[in-house]
Amino acid sequence: MVPNQKVDLPFLKDSGVTLYMKREDTIHPYISGNKYRKLKYSLIEAKQQGHDTLLTFGGAFSNHIAATAYAGKEAGLKTIGVIRGEELEEGWQANPTLQLASEHGMQFHFVSRSDYRTKGTDLFLDKLKMTFGKFYLLPEGGTNDLAIKGCEEILTEEDNKFDFVCCAAGTGGTIAGIINSAQPHQKVLGFPALKGDFLQDEIRKWSDGGDWDLIQDYHFGGYAKINRELVDFINNFKKKTGIPLDPVYTGKMLFGIFDLTKKGFFKPGNQILAIHTGGLQGIKGMNQVLKQKNLPLLDL
Ligand SMILES: *Cc1c(COP(=O)(O)O)cnc(C)c1O
Repeated sequence: MVPNQKVDLPFLKDSGVTLYMKREDTIHPYISGNKYRKLKYSLIEAKQQGHDTLLTFGGAFSNHIAATAYAGKEAGLKTIGVIRGEELEEGWQANPTLQLASEHGMQFHFVSRSDYRTKGTDLFLDKLKMTFGKFYLLPEGGTNDLAIKGCEEILTEEDNKFDFVCCAAGTGGTIAGIINSAQPHQKVLGFPALKGDFLQDEIRKWSDGGDWDLIQDYHFGGYAKINRELVDFINNFKKKTGIPLDPVYTGKMLFGIFDLTKKGFFKPGNQILAIHTGGLQGIKGMNQVLKQKNLPLLDL
C-alpha cells in the first residue's frame, strides 16, 4: 500500500492544519505515480485483445511517454511514441525523458506541431497504421475509461478521515478517478498545470457529481513554465521534509496548498491529503531549461 507521509512544518501547526502526502511517487522508479494507475488496466486490455504493440503521444518531457516505455517493456509489449516536434529527430538523445524511454525500448516517430494537432483524426491514425501495423492506441496523457478506473484505486479506506483531497491536474483523468472514489464529506481540489477553462468539462466527462473545485491560481503561466520562486520553493520543501516534488505538477500544487493555508482558506482542524502523483523523471529535463534561463537548478 502507498504510504501517507505527514508534512510536519511549524507554519502548518500554527495554522491548525494537518497535511499528509500520499507518496504515489514511490510506486515505481520509472512509472511514476498516477501514470502507473492510468496504464494498469489498458495494459491488461491490450494483451487481452491480442496486441503486441502500444502506441501513444506526448511532448518531449512527457511523464506519460517515460511511463509507457517502461510499462510496455515490463508487460512484454513493444512501444511507439509519437513525439511533438520534428526538430527533435536530430539530437533527441540529449533529452533525458526520451533517452530514458529509448533505453526501455520505445521507438519514436517525430511529427511537426501542426501534424500533432491532427492526431485524433482518422487520416493521421491510418497513416500510423500503414507505417507501424496494428497497435493498441493510448491517448495523450493516457486518459481513457480504463485510466479513470485505475485512478479510482488511489484513495483507500484509511483516507476517509481527510476533509480535503488535493491533486494536480493535466488532462483531468486522475482527479476524475479521485472524485469518483472520494467520500461524500470530502472536498476534492484540483490544481491545473495548464491555463484555460477546458478542464471543467473534461473532468465532468469522466466523473459524475462529487464535491470538487479547481484552483486556477497556481499554474505559473502554464504547462512547464517555471520561475525562481518555484525552484526555491521545491528545493526548500525537499530540504525540510525530505519529499522531492516535480516542477510541472506537484511542486505547483504544494505551492498552492501552502499559499492557500497562509491566506486562511483552510480552517483550524482541517485535515488535508495531497496526492504526490510522481513526475520526478521530469526534473532533469527541467534543469536543462533552467540552465538556459540562468536560473538556479532543482536539487536532484
Ligand atoms: C500526468 C500527471 C498529472 C496529471 O494527470 P492527469 O490525469 O492528466 O490530470 C499530475 N501529476 C503528474 C506528476 C503527472 O505526471
